[in-house]
Amino acid sequence: MSVGAEADCRFSLDLNPAVREMRDWVHGFARDVIRPAAPEWDEREETPRPILEQAAKIGLYSLDFFAQQWLEPSGLGIPVAWEELFWGDAGIALSIVGTGLAAVAVSGNGTHEQIAEWLPPMFGDADDVRLGAFCVSEPDAGSDVAAIRTRAVYREATDEWVLNGTKSWVTNGGIANVHVVVASVDPALGSRGQATFIVPPGTPGLTQGQKFRKHGIRASHTAEVVLDDVRVPGRCLVGGKERLDDMNAAVDAARLLTWRAAWMARQRKPFDHAEGSMCKLVAGETAVRVTEQAIQILGGYGYTRDYPVERWHRDAKIFTIFEGTSEIQRMIIGRAATGLDVR
Ligand SMILES: Cc1cc2nc3c(=O)[nH]c(=O)nc-3n(C[C@H](O)[C@H](O)[C@H](O)COP(=O)(O)OP(=O)(O)OC[C@H]3O[C@@H](n4cnc5c(N)ncnc54)[C@H](O)[C@@H]3O)c2cc1C
Repeated sequence: MSVGAEADCRFSLDLNPAVREMRDWVHGFARDVIRPAAPEWDEREETPRPILEQAAKIGLYSLDFFAQQWLEPSGLGIPVAWEELFWGDAGIALSIVGTGLAAVAVSGNGTHEQIAEWLPPMFGDADDVRLGAFCVSEPDAGSDVAAIRTRAVYREATDEWVLNGTKSWVTNGGIANVHVVVASVDPALGSRGQATFIVPPGTPGLTQGQKFRKHGIRASHTAEVVLDDVRVPGRCLVGGKERLDDMNAAVDAARLLTWRAAWMARQRKPFDHAEGSMCKLVAGETAVRVTEQAIQILGGYGYTRDYPVERWHRDAKIFTIFEGTSEIQRMIIGRAATGLDVR
């Protein structure tokens, strides 16, 4: 690391010029627009759309502004901006930042395609302000998110997920354009069996349940979201099914190479192209790679002895070593391909 880079990473709470400038700009909006409007929207107990429109006009309620502050190098962009907005009024501020919950859920775990497709319609633009909602909590699953009952069932024939359940306490619930919903795919696995789904605007079956009348932050809309046979396309599973699919494909490829070598051996066909080494190399390396990915998918649990994947990973490693290491198999394959005594 260069001396300059070290200096950049030093712990410091001095706001850099860009964050200071942004703070003053947001403070001005909070002072001139949010604070004067706060009593009215507290009484009305609804999302202050005209304020969101004004914020959108100056670029404050926008995907660009949120993304800039999330990526701000010192990490202080978001806390500084949010502090100024909430200084203006907590309810109006929550209406401005609430969409961020849904946006983070998709940008944190979604594919590049999902981020590009679904974040813009969560914010809209100054002429057509839109909202996002992140739906996790349920009447019996608040702190204990593992208890979520909303179910997601995959219908292979139509490549759709079908969502059923009731979400509670959702900021922008039922009035958002894009709802991001956490649901259980396999209840037996608790939180590890849950996945996140994007529900596109206007999807039939998603409705607003009761709207909560709250003690405070009343300019922010909080409501139940009812999901009754809500069908979303397969591509709306956040993160996509591809990664597991990749592991399956790798295992299947290794299996095919192994079966081919076994069949050739039984037919007494010569391994002219080092087919035996190919299957040994690919199957051994695949076993190590997919068991490592399985640990990664389970996160911290995968690294404990509570689940068998860490043992499978330890056991898999030997297949790249005994009966001819991966390096030796590569040499044999190289020799068969080139005719050279590759070492
Ligand atoms: C205004 C508002 C906006 C919200 N916005 C959203 C949103 O946009 N999306 C969303 O998904 N959710 C949202 N929520 C839900 C919020 O995340 C939950 O209310 C919160 O997680 C608490 O869950 P709960 O209300 O079910 O309370 P419970 O989990 O039932 O807790 C009740 C009490 O029991 C205590 N408790 C629970 N478990 C334990 C334990 N193991 N040990 C010790 N004490 C415990 C809690 O601390 C609390 O005091 C919102 C809630 C409100 C009020």
